[in-house]
Amino acid sequence: MVDINKIVRENVLRLTPYSCARDEFQGSTGVFMDANENPYGSLNRYPDPYQKELKAAVARFRGIAVENIFLGNGSDEIIDLCFRIFCSPGIDSALTFTPTYGMYEVSASVNDVKVIRIPLNGNFQIDITQTEQFLSDKNLKLIFICSPNNPTSNSMNHSDVEYLISKFNGIIVIDEAYIDFSEQPSFVKLLGKYPNLIIMQTFSKALGMAAARVGIAFSTPEIIHYFNKVKPPYNMSTINQIAALKKLGKPEVYRTQVLKIKTERDRLAGKLKKIKSIEKVFSSDSNFLLVRVKDANSIYNALIDRNIVVRNRNSVIENCIRITVGKPNENNKLISALKSIAI
Ligand SMILES: *Cc1c(COP(=O)(O)O)cnc(C)c1O
Repeated sequence: MVDINKIVRENVLRLTPYSCARDEFQGSTGVFMDANENPYGSLNRYPDPYQKELKAAVARFRGIAVENIFLGNGSDEIIDLCFRIFCSPGIDSALTFTPTYGMYEVSASVNDVKVIRIPLNGNFQIDITQTEQFLSDKNLKLIFICSPNNPTSNSMNHSDVEYLISKFNGIIVIDEAYIDFSEQPSFVKLLGKYPNLIIMQTFSKALGMAAARVGIAFSTPEIIHYFNKVKPPYNMSTINQIAALKKLGKPEVYRTQVLKIKTERDRLAGKLKKIKSIEKVFSSDSNFLLVRVKDANSIYNALIDRNIVVRNRNSVIENCIRITVGKPNENNKLISALKSIAI
């Protein structure tokens, strides 16, 4: 059985967290003279450090208990906290399956943590044989699995992922930023079964709130405790908490948007497949399409000339571009533009 206290950095185990005024007194009415706030105005008070109302709403939305939830300033803060809790700079390492989301590697570098990169196989799946040799490395603390994966747009095989979780004595972080667009179930159902699992989701994609910076981590109360210990006390502003709460108050808006985006994704994929300069449209479990073209750089530039911005992924997957599904009229503009580009 994995012992989380053996994976956590020693300084974090010993750490006495900052105790803020709102930790010591939590009532909502009274005369507040404890936090040196300005007594006037509407955003004059510090936010709830543990985002209780928002967590209760997330718990209802996802059907997961409040004690299994941590909220961060975007998933990016959660990724950084994982490094700071579990990896000693200059000593420990993390493992990623490439190509994948760039923040794992950036965050690792900021924290001076080595990255072991294992290329996904020809079907963009995890190469278990290649990975297994690293699992016994005592300094390997984190494995990041992005599913559905950015930029390949596919989900990882569930049996491969569960095999790794069961064999690894460190922490497995599964990034489910695109789970709402996927036909595969979430990995959250494994939370009660393994002590070393962190599942990240976000308000930035299906919930349409990239501007608000709200990331979610689902994990065991033990791991959530360490997140709370290390995070900045007021990591999420009141403005963002209120915006996110309002969004969860209208789940029907979220549901219709996700349906619309998935329908458009499939329509766009069909149209793209008929365009001559496009060699392959990879099957997508997300809200974007990875396509292989004859010459990604020229197509990218030709689209920029027509005021259409896609993501050129040529440097990570040869001649591939990543296209986010837009509104129907935006997708139509892209299709006509691609038809007009002679390559
Ligand atoms: C977009 C995205 C996120 C979202 O990050 P936030 O900081 O929550 O906006 C997380 N992971 C992946 C793989 C993404 O593509």
